[in-house]
Amino acid sequence: MLRLPRITFLTVAFCLFSAAECLGGFAGPAAAGDAAEPAPGVPPSLVIGDGARDCSAAKTALALAPHPEALSSASTNIDIQYYHLDLTLPMVTSTLSGTVRIQGTVVGSTMATLVLDLQNTMTVTAVKLANGTPCTFTHPGAVLNVTLPSPVAPGGNVAVDVTYNGAPQTGGFGYFVFGLRAGKRFAWSLSEPYGAREWWPCKDHPSDKADSVRVTVTVPSIYRVGSQGLLVSETTNGADKTYDWVSHYPISNYLVSIAASEYTRRQGTYNRPGPLAALYGALAMPLDHLVYTDGSDALPFGWGESGDMISVYEDWFGPYPFANEKYGHSECTFGGGMEHQTMTSLNGSSISLVSHELGHQWFGDEVTTKTWPHIWLNEGFATYSALLYFQQREGSYPGTYETQLASTYADARNAIGTLVLADTSNVSDMFGQSRIYSKGSMILYMLRWIVGDTVFRNILHAYAADPALQYNCATTSDFKRVCETVSGLDLDTYFSQWVENGTGYPIYTACALWLPENGHYRVQVTLHQTQVFTTSNVNVFVMPVPIVIHTASGDINELAQNSERDQTFTYFVPNQPTSVAIDPDKHILRADAIDPGACAPVSTGTGPLPIRTDIVSVFPNPASGQFSVHYTAGEEGAMELGVYDVAGRRVFAKTLSRTAPGVGAEFFNASKLPAGVYFIRLRAPHGEAITRKLVVIR
Ligand SMILES: [Zn+2]
Repeated sequence: MLRLPRITFLTVAFCLFSAAECLGGFAGPAAAGDAAEPAPGVPPSLVIGDGARDCSAAKTALALAPHPEALSSASTNIDIQYYHLDLTLPMVTSTLSGTVRIQGTVVGSTMATLVLDLQNTMTVTAVKLANGTPCTFTHPGAVLNVTLPSPVAPGGNVAVDVTYNGAPQTGGFGYFVFGLRAGKRFAWSLSEPYGAREWWPCKDHPSDKADSVRVTVTVPSIYRVGSQGLLVSETTNGADKTYDWVSHYPISNYLVSIAASEYTRRQGTYNRPGPLAALYGALAMPLDHLVYTDGSDALPFGWGESGDMISVYEDWFGPYPFANEKYGHSECTFGGGMEHQTMTSLNGSSISLVSHELGHQWFGDEVTTKTWPHIWLNEGFATYSALLYFQQREGSYPGTYETQLASTYADARNAIGTLVLADTSNVSDMFGQSRIYSKGSMILYMLRWIVGDTVFRNILHAYAADPALQYNCATTSDFKRVCETVSGLDLDTYFSQWVENGTGYPIYTACALWLPENGHYRVQVTLHQTQVFTTSNVNVFVMPVPIVIHTASGDINELAQNSERDQTFTYFVPNQPTSVAIDPDKHILRADAIDPGACAPVSTGTGPLPIRTDIVSVFPNPASGQFSVHYTAGEEGAMELGVYDVAGRRVFAKTLSRTAPGVGAEFFNASKLPAGVYFIRLRAPHGEAITRKLVVIR
């Protein structure tokens, strides 16, 4: 889902008709007065859109109160197989009526009462078994208790028809909304996360997907109805028309949708490009769009790019998950979009928005968050999908990937709390843009860099096609499992510090020095992490940190495996460095500006930078036998080098007599030391003692 503030939508719509005004309207004072036109073939910036920012504004504006019914009350001992919503919308009132079939298999324990989620603003008039046997029921609050005529043992089937009517209350992101637009009536649903129960009886929890769903809607014949799957029939009954939509793919209840209005149906075909057809087989799939009948037959710009987007995502994620049915959009009046399965509800047409919702078809719809605390698996992935599309279509949208990446990266640093949510009772927090959308997408961005493009693509394919997850649900640990299996890496720490337990991001400071040594240059780079508990609960972000050593003969790229809060890395390069840069391409979500200064404040050093007394490295660490301590001496004189246990007892000591500043190394043997943590202390003739941690293992 992606929400746009209404004002932005209006401007976006306006911009479709006037690119010049569009740029003037958004680009600020510098651009407002010039008649800058986009390059030929390049859509104006607003057509490209910035869904993330729009979304953030909308979320803030919504400021929703905590939902009183955050969790489903429905029976957990039923495995839902099928829903059939057979509804009538008179469209002249804000009401609906009809019957919903709920069908499933009893699991775990015998079922005497089937409990469904349905708000009692809707009036239930009858509940019957599929064979017509009436059931007694009670309907307090948002809970519909249906007493079965006889208990059903595990393995038995339950099928009930709930007949009801009423005017659904609105709230959250909508639920089921009726209204008037340009003099024409419309209706649409948006149930995520807790709104399905406001308008139809169901097990209102994403974890239990129905195997198939049918939505039959009768409306006055001037209206069309959009929903998921394929339109199997369109039947006229006097002044009414009945639209019958059927989908044979598993679906979470919050993804079941209805949109009705005076629509123009625009159909097309996604023809799978040759290279993808060679991999997945040929495909000519319907594209089915419902656009408000406004006198213009033009398909909104971004909607028309759906086919191209599908081809990019099939390449990166695997085959379109609902290829036997369709993809399409139904126009709605809420700001933004909602990834209803096979037919996104959409108000807007920016590439950013359309690609976000399409990405959800794989991540959100094919693989759905099992529980709401893991909603980043939906939204972070969809946000990254939009970035990926811009990156792949750099030629059509030059510079957009970089711009949107920078904006998402910056916004992700506003995230508060862990990515996996502890509390999902507040819908506004649940869909927090900085935390769930931006930081969620940056988790994938960093992961891609760590594992490399090929492995990352394999991870996405494997995740979407995982036998336990495809057309089913996932939690963060499921995704982590796929990442580890495909990459062969242990990603415990990565997921713990960035997703599950950690908050915030690292703040690095660094210093660098280099000295000539045996015809080469010894470069030492010291990294410090300085984040404090109020900004991050992670003491040490364990990450590979890119270090670029600039020399007169070219750049040398190194990767520091940073696992300590203060850590020094030593490299040898053939030519004299000119400067050192830390993570210049921002592969790590971090604070701005790491400008490695010289490591020493004052020195009589012989190198291009002054030297200070320091412990450059302890190797190996952990140690079990011999280990070395490489150090720099900032001045001449006697230095003390000692090794101490945690109780402060000195276990080794050496006095180093330096006749000049420079580098040196001492060797110790830890083979007789008990396992544990030790501290190595180097005390200069004048100045502070330098301490490094040593771990001894046995
Ligand atoms: Zn979304």
